[in-house]
Amino acid sequence: MRTLIEKGTCVTASDTFLADVVIEDDKIAALGRDLGKVFDKIDKCIDASGKLVIPGGIDVHTHLDMPFGGTVSADDFESGTIAAAHGGTTSVVDFAIQPQGGGALMKGLHDWHAKAEGKAAVDYGFHMIVREVNKSSLAEMDQLVKHEGVTSFKLFTAYPGVFYVDDAQIFRALRKAGDNGALICMHAENGPVIDVLIEEAKARGETAPVWHALTRPPRLEGEASHRVLALAEVAKVPLYIVHLSAKEALDQVREARDRGVRAYAETCPQYLFLDHRNYQEPGFEGSKYVMSPPLRMPGNEQSLWQGLRLDDLQVVSTDHCPFCMKEKRLGENDFSRIPNGAPGIETRLYLTYDGGVRSGRISLNRWVQLVSTAPAKLFGLWPRKGTLAVGADADVVVWDPERRVTLSVKTMHMRVDYNPYEGRQVVGGPSQVLSRGKLVVEDDKFVGQKGHGRFLRRGQTLA
Ligand SMILES: [Zn+2]
Repeated sequence: MRTLIEKGTCVTASDTFLADVVIEDDKIAALGRDLGKVFDKIDKCIDASGKLVIPGGIDVHTHLDMPFGGTVSADDFESGTIAAAHGGTTSVVDFAIQPQGGGALMKGLHDWHAKAEGKAAVDYGFHMIVREVNKSSLAEMDQLVKHEGVTSFKLFTAYPGVFYVDDAQIFRALRKAGDNGALICMHAENGPVIDVLIEEAKARGETAPVWHALTRPPRLEGEASHRVLALAEVAKVPLYIVHLSAKEALDQVREARDRGVRAYAETCPQYLFLDHRNYQEPGFEGSKYVMSPPLRMPGNEQSLWQGLRLDDLQVVSTDHCPFCMKEKRLGENDFSRIPNGAPGIETRLYLTYDGGVRSGRISLNRWVQLVSTAPAKLFGLWPRKGTLAVGADADVVVWDPERRVTLSVKTMHMRVDYNPYEGRQVVGGPSQVLSRGKLVVEDDKFVGQKGHGRFLRRGQTLA
């Protein structure tokens, strides 16, 4: 099977050039001018004139089919990866979870394989959430890196009794990562203190969704970020902070980087395009934005954009973890029982292209780097994914820079009954999306199939 993508403007993290792309089976076979004249037998031809040709998006922070607070996130690996493909994302790295009570990491990994296998429409990998760092989980970390293609681990300083691990456990995991080349990812908020603030607010009779944000102040994200970066500094290993939301945390990352710490962080579109005012929406609408960390005060996003421009933030991921309003209502009388999370797997490239590239905040090449190349390099997928190069997987998006799209629950494909960006008009969107050479989305129609997606055995981080 030979596909020719003609006359497009190819954009990678480093280069912009007019070229045709020839795909043979699942790989990019050639890049160059007038390849239609060089290759005689073409099975499929896509005209990309006036369009951009970019490597498929890589979303390294998703929660598909994830249990949380007595319910489960609304998108499974089928609906979630189909929605991802619609938005130009062709690889996701989801979080497998160590069973509660310090169960085997392998059991958690098997559970996640069972959720994804035969269902995913694009390729997927797994990080492993470690809830208990002990002798056996530390030994299993080696196994996962060596034999299972799981090369990153997530730990939490938040959610005591559920995910929280103490500083000694974090430090041991960091040391282990130093030995086996894995990357430690941190959810950095001071959970024990947040729990006290929640208790105090509830004792005063506060119930509204806004209290989710008011009990998780940005200083406590800054504090936890400072702490985990100091631990990584002493352990002499890289560290990656997930869903960084607050200027207070970004300042810590920047200072650590300036000291020579291999500190990395991602932010998410919700922290760039929404803010604390969304919690004031009437009735129970504010619950749509209950996520952790919460949305921050207006103005905070300016710091995040600066971080994205100056490389103190390296990745934009989504933390896609949708719950329908029926589930959100579990916390109608108690903000602390609202399931944490919001949809975003489909809207990441739309928002960052329109609000980032078109508005002049970041360059086209920086955009590709943030949504595809840097995540590939940090999470062991490069050079197979994350760029346009001969021999790379043919995960290719033909991006129409003039396509007009209204972000809405009516136009998007995520399996959830609201959209946090409802009614927002954006310019730019995918016209064709290929996953390993196979067309999966064309003109907003899904033409792929569930089960096409393969598990990605990831290599070591280049952090
Ligand atoms: Zn998350």
